Amino acid sequence: MRRSFKFRLWTDENQERELEIMLETHRRLYNICLDYRKLAYEIYRATITYSDCSRWFKHEREFNPYFARLNFSSAQATMRRLDKTYVAFFRRAKAGKKPGFPRFKGRDRFNSIEFPAYGDGIKLNGERLRIQHVGTIRVKLHRLIEGKIKTVTLIREADKWYVVFSCDLGDVRVEPSANPAVGIDVGLSSFLTTDTGKKEPNPRYLKTALPDLRRKQRSLSRKKKNGMNRRKARKVVAKTHARVKNRRREHHHQVSLKLVRRYGFIAVESLNIDEMLKNDRYSRAINDVAWGNFVLTLRSKAESAGVEFVAVNARGTTQECSACGQVVPKDLFQRWHSCSCGCSLDRDENAARNILARGLLARTGPVGLNVAENRKRASRSPLVHEGE
Ligand SMILES: [Zn+2]
Repeated sequence: MRRSFKFRLWTDENQERELEIMLETHRRLYNICLDYRKLAYEIYRATITYSDCSRWFKHEREFNPYFARLNFSSAQATMRRLDKTYVAFFRRAKAGKKPGFPRFKGRDRFNSIEFPAYGDGIKLNGERLRIQHVGTIRVKLHRLIEGKIKTVTLIREADKWYVVFSCDLGDVRVEPSANPAVGIDVGLSSFLTTDTGKKEPNPRYLKTALPDLRRKQRSLSRKKKNGMNRRKARKVVAKTHARVKNRRREHHHQVSLKLVRRYGFIAVESLNIDEMLKNDRYSRAINDVAWGNFVLTLRSKAESAGVEFVAVNARGTTQECSACGQVVPKDLFQRWHSCSCGCSLDRDENAARNILARGLLARTGPVGLNVAENRKRASRSPLVHEGE
């Protein structure tokens, strides 16, 4: 099992400049290779592969002092990164989709350097990270690094630098959890609702940050193109974005942790984010909550805690009665589910119950939408449902 550990780097001015130069050199390497590949194809209909690039680079770095200062394996990682975008491009083209051609990376679109082999050009020594041609940078290890470090990535976010260690934890045997099962409905009025009606409020960081962000963005658009002030303003905007992103990630971690500690089986809706974002009116709030990221965080936390995780097709779970299976139509603003069978409860709680039933079914047998059968199976499940 792999796990990542991310830490802030405490750079001094000198180190920061060296990192910036290194990042810029990687970016240029990326763009030059892309240029070669494009030209070769346009003029000769020839394909330049990753190994061609790597050979060329090996030769080139004898003359180019900037290239000479790059760690060789990390330069290879950058060229491989370009290769991956090509592979993805062809895969999508083959599948009949309209893929975007690999693009040149602008200054603000290239923010990481990978070192594919720990110990090769980068090494941790206590709380100090030694980077070839940069020096030794202080790292605050606020949590323990587990397992064996395999790869290291340096990331620039706004104007801060981070290091991410990707570690191999080996074959970790995780005892399956004996905690109760839960169904989770994610939504707009609350961040999430469980099948027992527990709610997690929406943090809406972006909403509070939004007026601020808008003002900064407006100020950015007023600045002259390519001017120094524009670059400064862009930095300010990027900083606000990064702050929102960090707070959101923290929130996702906290909520996920709470859930995997309490439950042994988690069923959530498998979200089609692309589809939802098309619905313009809600896209701001949906973006805000960023459920997709949350579900991914929850899944990885569940995995390492021995908690079973199932993503189910949630089509119709809002309309369906969780007690009798009847379809009870409601519009977006109807917050209460009340059915002719006597079932009356919060709209999201009703949905969460349906999601749980589908999750348990997906676990025990073929997925079907027969609710009565769902519930029978659910009640036969060895998992104890909370509140029973
Ligand atoms: Zn009913």
